[in-house]
Amino acid sequence: MKKLTKIKTKPNLQESRLKENFEMLDRIRDDTVNDIESLTEDFQHMTLVAESIQRNYRALLAENQLLKGALLSIIDECGCWEGNRCDRCQKILKSLDSKNPDFPPNAAKEYRAILNQLRNLG
Ligand SMILES: [Zn+2]
Repeated sequence: MKKLTKIKTKPNLQESRLKENFEMLDRIRDDTVNDIESLTEDFQHMTLVAESIQRNYRALLAENQLLKGALLSIIDECGCWEGNRCDRCQKILKSLDSKNPDFPPNAAKEYRAILNQLRNLG
């Protein structure tokens, strides 16, 4: 009899350990699924942010090109010529020169910085 009870308890212990193990694995799987879901939500949000930045940047570039074109056409239509520009045209050319220290901060660089920050968030 004694031997029989011993034999009976051994597999029971193993069984409960196995069940505990299964429960733990299930919990880990649930956590993983939740993590993946929240990651997916984060990625979706980041995609929306990136798309919005892309749209704004495109609009900014188009606006910039229009403005540059308008300024260059003022110079083209002016009576002065290359090598002998009037004050107004010289001012316009200076404002278009990106090497000019007074040139406004480059919007492309600012957007790149924002994108880098977003990448670092991930
Ligand atoms: Zn001119």
